[in-house]
Amino acid sequence: MAERHKLYEYDYGTRKIKLKNKVCPKCGRVMAFHRDSRPRWHCGHCGYVEYVEEGK
Ligand SMILES: [Zn+2]
Repeated sequence: MAERHKLYEYDYGTRKIKLKNKVCPKCGRVMAFHRDSRPRWHCGHCGYVEYVEEGK
């Protein structure tokens, strides 16, 4: 099996450590990050969506 993804991701461009996987507040599953027109976290289990504001 493949290794588990790390929970944190280091961005060499901005030199910041950011959370890679977020846990769903509703069901506690790991959410997936989608970066389309609007970056958002999506839970594939219950369908919960949390939009991310990227102002900086
Ligand atoms: Zn969920």
